[in-house]
This record gives sequence, structure tokens and C-alpha cells, in this order.
Amino acid sequence: MRASARFSCFAGCDEHYGLDEIVYRCRKCGALLDVEHDLTALRERSGAAWMQVFDRRWMRTEWPFGSGVWGKLEWVYPGIDPSSIVSFAEGGSNLLWAERYGRSLGLNDVWIKQCGNSHTGSFKDLGMTVLVSAVREMNRRGKSVRAIACASTGDTSAALAAYCAAAEIPALVLLPKDKVSIAQLLQPLANGAIVVSLETDFDGCMKVVQELTADGSIYLANSMNSLRIEGQKTIAVELVQQFDWAVPDWVVIPGGNLGNVYALGKGFLLMKELGLIARLPRICVAQAARANPLYLAYKNGFDRYAPVKAQKTAASAIQIGDPVSIDRAIRVLRQFDGVVEQASEDELADAVARADRTGMYNCPHTGVALAALEKLAKAGTIGRDERVVVISTAHGLKFTEFKRSYHQGELEGTDPQLANRPIELPPDVDRVRAAIDARLAR
Ligand SMILES: *Cc1c(COP(=O)(O)O)cnc(C)c1O
Ligand SMILES: [Zn+2]
Repeated sequence: MRASARFSCFAGCDEHYGLDEIVYRCRKCGALLDVEHDLTALRERSGAAWMQVFDRRWMRTEWPFGSGVWGKLEWVYPGIDPSSIVSFAEGGSNLLWAERYGRSLGLNDVWIKQCGNSHTGSFKDLGMTVLVSAVREMNRRGKSVRAIACASTGDTSAALAAYCAAAEIPALVLLPKDKVSIAQLLQPLANGAIVVSLETDFDGCMKVVQELTADGSIYLANSMNSLRIEGQKTIAVELVQQFDWAVPDWVVIPGGNLGNVYALGKGFLLMKELGLIARLPRICVAQAARANPLYLAYKNGFDRYAPVKAQKTAASAIQIGDPVSIDRAIRVLRQFDGVVEQASEDELADAVARADRTGMYNCPHTGVALAALEKLAKAGTIGRDERVVVISTAHGLKFTEFKRSYHQGELEGTDPQLANRPIELPPDVDRVRAAIDARLAR
């Protein structure tokens, strides 16, 4: 099979570039680029044959196919030299039936796709393995990229730093000062990245990094970069594969810069195009009410879109007021009969706590998605027996301060309904027993 792919203008200009070119936007109109695959070549294999190939590679160790991303290599970056690939066996994350949590909402078929159970603790690994591998491929083909840079709300920089460290490429990360968690600050430091902390927000960091990378010697890793989308779209393929190629009724996903919802949509559309699935799920994008430009646009039927000034939210990775992939997201929502929901600080924090009480350990962004799910269930938009997949985007262990402050009753903007504090006692068995009895009697 001679599968191939190229960058094409998302707005529809007749502009195309090689995947090894250093280009992030259409040179004619400035729109974002899209990686366009040669579908004729991919159709040489039937839908059934693709499923067989993907199942055979799934979660094994034959390089590089054991990775959830590179197991779908022909759909991601056809023609890449396997020796360019930098992989931590990302993807293949567990898809769990949230039986008790779903039941508490009156739903029988709620599933959580744990994308945070990944090398650096978020789904950003799925895109970053492709981007860093692509830079290696560029350098192999004669370019000389000196470093890779990103602005980040915390998880992109962690992923970039790790993959660059493995590839021996310097990483440069620009973080908004005091707006990422301690873990997210420590991750790139530990991996040896150059970490610059700027007195601004994410949108401010984004402006600086675009200038820094303008001459092409430093490569830009933000999600305007369409290579990351190719890796992230395997989330859709993977979760359908995990259901033995059955399509769920709904997918709920938290959205900030909105690249991931576009990736999700792209994965489903490609599976339909190539005959692996016959229908599409509905999609719900969940936003923090304090950073909700897509929600506002949705409320007026996508007639008008205006960026907002994002306010401080515990869901710090989606504290974005002017999402770069807004047009891509709106297109996906139209194609997937989509809806947009929002969650206040109170709603997202209690949703996390409710789900944590059933054994999960959620990050605040997943909490935004869970709060949206709770609203859709309550409104009857999602029916009792419909199959729902919530995309959990990061690992809860990265957000210790969020959980600490919630359970201490100190989380700004919230009145915690499910705070659980340690019972402090002297080592006196009778008093310990009395305290336990009182708790169990509640
Ligand atoms: C990046 C990120 C998001 C948002 O993804 P977008 O593609 O920017 O919409 C959500 N949750 C977490 C944990 C993230 O790191
Ligand atoms: Zn164009």
C-alpha cells in the first residue's frame, strides 16, 4: 500500500505542503492546516481488514505498533521512517464502565476513557509523539530544527519535555506564572526543558511563542500544529476498537483550545469513510463557565463567535478565552449533532467529588465533562440506556492542590458538598472506635 498524507488548507484553498515542511498555517489565507490522507490508497484495505490489522497490533511490543497511536501508523503519518519515531507506548488507555457513578445519575451505560493514564499523565502524549517524531523525520530529511517550543496550560509542556528528552531535542516551554499545578511545573523541569515562566496568561504566552518560532529554526508545538491532531484522533479509533468496533451514542469531552474535539471528530469520520463504522455518535463539548467562548457561540446557534477573557478556573488546562481551533470545533459539532454545556466551579468540583466517591480519581477538566454529563442526564438529553463515553483528559494525581483545597473547604468559588477530612485523634483506641462508629452510622 502506498498511503500518503499532506497538509491542506482547512479553509479550502488549493494549497498543499509536505508533512516535513515547517509550516503551521495556509500561506495564502492564514487558515489552519489539516492533514489530508490519500483515501484511495487507504481504501485498498477493506474496513474489516483494517480492524484485523489494528486488533493484531493492539497492545503488543512489535516496534512501533504497540503504541495506541503508532498501531494506526498508516492513518497517522504514512511513510514516516520507523527510526524517526519517539514513543512511550502511549495510548491503549483503559476504558472503564463507571457502573456505580452512572447509576447515581440514572444512567446504565456510562464509560470513562482514561486518557490521563498515559506516560506524562494526559492525552497530550498522543499528539506529542507524532509531533516530535515528525521533527526527527524533518531533521533526517535535511531540515535543521534546533529546538521545539510551546506555550502551555501545563500538560502540553509536560508531554513536549518528555518526548524531546527521549529524542535528544531541546525543549522550550512558556508557562503562565502561577497558573499551572506544581506537578505540571515540575514535569518539564525534571525532563530538562528550558522553562520560562511569564507574568501573563496562556493567551499571552501563545503570542510570545509565535514570535519566537517565526523564523522556523525553533519548531512550534502548539495545537494549531495539525500533526498533533493526527495522534489525538486515535482516541476515537481506540475507544470504538475497545467496544469491539461498536459506536457509542455519546462522547462527552472537555474543551479549551478545542483541538481535541476536532481530533475526536476526525477519527470518527475517517472510520466511517473507510467502512469500519456505519454511524457517528453525538458529541458534547464541556467548557468551564469561566472560559466558555464556544458555549456562548453555541447558545446563539453559532451565528456569532467572540473571544472572551478567560477567568481563573480550577480547570486550568482549559482556561482559554480565544481557542485556536474554534472553526474546527464548530464544524465537528455541526457534523455530529453536537451540543455544548458549561460547568461552574461548584459544579465541576462536586462532579469530581461525586465520581471520586465511586472509586475514580478525577482531574478538574474531567470534572467539567462529568458536570456536563450530569446536566444532560437530568434534562433527558441522554437517555437511560444510551452508551456514553466521557473523555477523561488528565490524571487526578497531577492536581493535588485542587483536591486538597476542595476537601479542606478552601476551593475558591465552591461550597463543597462532599468534603472528606481526616479525623485527628490521640492514639486512644476507644476514641478511635467511637469516631469510626459515628462515621459508619451516618
Ligand atoms: C489540553 C487539555 C484539555 C483541552 O484540550 P483542547 O484540545 O485544548 O480542547 C483538556 N483537559 C486537559 C487535562 C488538557 O491537558
Ligand atoms: Zn487557505
